[in-house]
Amino acid sequence: MKVYISADMEGVCGVTHSAQCRPGHPDYERFRRLLTQEVNSAIEGALEGGATDVLVNDSHFAMTNIVIEDLHPRASLISGSNKLSAQMEGLDETFAAVFLVGYHQGDGQGDGVINHTLMSATIRRVLVNGTVADEALINAAVAADFGVPVALLTGDDRVCEHISNTIENTQVAPVKRAIDRLSAENLPVHEARRLIRERAAMAIERVRNGAIKSAAAYAPARFDVEFRLSSAAHLCTLFPAVERTGPCSITFERPTMVEAYKLFWGLGIVGTAAMTGVFTPAP
Ligand SMILES: [Zn+2]
Repeated sequence: MKVYISADMEGVCGVTHSAQCRPGHPDYERFRRLLTQEVNSAIEGALEGGATDVLVNDSHFAMTNIVIEDLHPRASLISGSNKLSAQMEGLDETFAAVFLVGYHQGDGQGDGVINHTLMSATIRRVLVNGTVADEALINAAVAADFGVPVALLTGDDRVCEHISNTIENTQVAPVKRAIDRLSAENLPVHEARRLIRERAAMAIERVRNGAIKSAAAYAPARFDVEFRLSSAAHLCTLFPAVERTGPCSITFERPTMVEAYKLFWGLGIVGTAAMTGVFTPAP
């Protein structure tokens, strides 16, 4: 039984500022280790629940955050950001469950810790088939294309509440209570890890007994993306599938969610380049 873990960082216990999750910040080395330990707790729980193989996809920023020498010895790791399926790279129909570890609320959806949607400087809002979607819901829809359910989500209380209200039976591990976008009451670190391990084991048991099932696949899948600047929307119309719907917004539709997600990721990269100007020398 194979388990796939997509690991973000903003939802890790102790993280309350995006600077803590950026290489170069004095605290980054501490926080990447806290992330690695939370991923390990999820892996331990998965193995306790009956998983045999675990693949971890580093899914935050440059996607080189997890400390491989500290990662659980039973897990393989996808590292690096030049990949076609971003936070869901490597997932296919051979997996039995997806875990989303260290996740966070979407941009503008409330007071969740470091709420944003994939590329915080570029993207303001994303709708999938007409519904406002955060990273967790987008990735759950990608997983549904492969018939794989999201069995566990960890992060702050806000993202956990949102996923619980949206996806039936997904297990959640709220490791901190959001006070503001940049403040939280964190669980004791070891209690957070114990909670993740416990819920991960429960999640796998629920997949095994059929209580957690994949959502229906989106076909076709339509994205409506609102960028922060008009230049991002403008440059995205280079791609024939993309239609401009407003000064800062575009829409596109693809036959499957996996295809749509790849295009969304590509447009995010182009939109990000457009924010400061293509080929603009670094300051
Ligand atoms: Zn992140």
